[in-house]
Amino acid sequence: MLIYNTLDRKKEEFVPPNPPHVSMYVCGPTVYDLFHIGNARSFVMGDMIRRYLIFRGYKVKYVMNLTDVDDKIIKRANELGVDAKEYAEKYIKEFFKDIDGLKIKRADAYPRATQHIGDMVELISELEKKEIAYNVNGDVFYDVSKFKDYGKLSGKRIDDLESGARIEINENKHNPLDFALWKKAKEGEPEWESPWGKGRPGWHIECSAMSMKELGQTIDIHAGGSDLIFPHHENEIAQSEAATCKDFVKYWVHFGFLNIRDEKMSKSLGNFFTARDILKKFSAETVRLFFSQTHYAAPLNFSEELLQSASKASEKIITLAKKINEKLKSENYGDEESSVNFEKYFADFTSAVDDDFNFPKGVAVIFDFVREVNREMQTDKEFKVEFYQSAKEFLVKTAEEVLGILDWKELETPAVTDSKEDELIRLLIDLRANAKKEKNYALADEIRNRLGEMGIVLQDTKDGVTYTRK
Ligand code: AMP
Ligand code: ZN
Repeated sequence: MLIYNTLDRKKEEFVPPNPPHVSMYVCGPTVYDLFHIGNARSFVMGDMIRRYLIFRGYKVKYVMNLTDVDDKIIKRANELGVDAKEYAEKYIKEFFKDIDGLKIKRADAYPRATQHIGDMVELISELEKKEIAYNVNGDVFYDVSKFKDYGKLSGKRIDDLESGARIEINENKHNPLDFALWKKAKEGEPEWESPWGKGRPGWHIECSAMSMKELGQTIDIHAGGSDLIFPHHENEIAQSEAATCKDFVKYWVHFGFLNIRDEKMSKSLGNFFTARDILKKFSAETVRLFFSQTHYAAPLNFSEELLQSASKASEKIITLAKKINEKLKSENYGDEESSVNFEKYFADFTSAVDDDFNFPKGVAVIFDFVREVNREMQTDKEFKVEFYQSAKEFLVKTAEEVLGILDWKELETPAVTDSKEDELIRLLIDLRANAKKEKNYALADEIRNRLGEMGIVLQDTKDGVTYTRK
């Protein structure tokens, strides 16, 4: 398998040092609002890469952080006159609703910054001990001049950065590029005790501390949107490598932007659609197919017309899957052999995606497959059961398990179209979880039973609660 490694600016053979184990960390959201469909692109691409690694036999430990203390959260909460912690908590709940809505598999861990302050303080103390961090009246900064490899990820030299970058001016810094590891407490901001007085961590140290805590000092794959290359990931490398004297990450993977009219979709530009609003109009399968038809690193323009054509394409896969499903249920088979070469389709899919997660090529193989199997099924021939089973297997392993652009369970129970009803069911599921937390099992059971009477069956899975309709 080849992966384009931002660190070396070239495609490299993927050789995890501890196979079949692979550790993967993706920078998660700052939880101050619903996430937009641009963020969704990064979250879905991380999910697809993880799923593909599993398809290739790796055992992946997948971690995504939740930034629940940050300038933006504090500002919003203060504007609204609410507690920053509660505010972040609310948007963590909303984040998971949309993650489930996009059929992104839950990560193995979602560390929250506020639960790892001790780890961050420890890491900063280590940097201070090595005289790489310096304290100025309770603000602690990282001295970039002490890390000789500074700039190796973004390919920038310190001199260029100093002249070109928009750098936060702060007279306490030794060098304009130095960045905050610990911010001294201010009125109206959350604060924690530390060796430097009360304060809160900087954003970059959060990811260094949480990723190393969860995955060890050297991580196989670290990913995020390409806006994070500089300064966020550059600073993560500087912090982690200076502290541990080990390589922090083997493969750096960066996702291209989702753009609107060639401009990055972002909260600050106001040119965004929330993932939630898009999911009211299009299925998760359609959104995921739309994303998978462009290489993860390339820019992708967003428009509803493009989603509509993805929706039409998605129908082709679903229609074939339904035909196969009907046939398998009818148990009415013949004894004709088919000429479809399933092994070759698997091999083509694998060699396409092995080349730096080329999902667009993989999707093209699936559409070739759909065309050929449709052609076979349109003849009057009655094939052996193995033909229908193999066709199902190919679609389930590739379209469903890797790309998430098909959901076999839903072929018979169509996706919920009434989003209000969906929201109400989700509300009841949340209330049931609360009841369970409070050990009110009678109420939790009543919610499950009453929904069951209405034909809505809840399932407790390790990825959370899902439901189907009878
Ligand atoms: P944030 O909540 O802003 O920290 O972003 C969460 C993730 O979404 C990060 O990995 C960002 O790089 C990514 N991201 C933000 N905007 C876009 C965009 N327009 N296209 C793709 N990824 C994005
Ligand atoms: Zn991060």
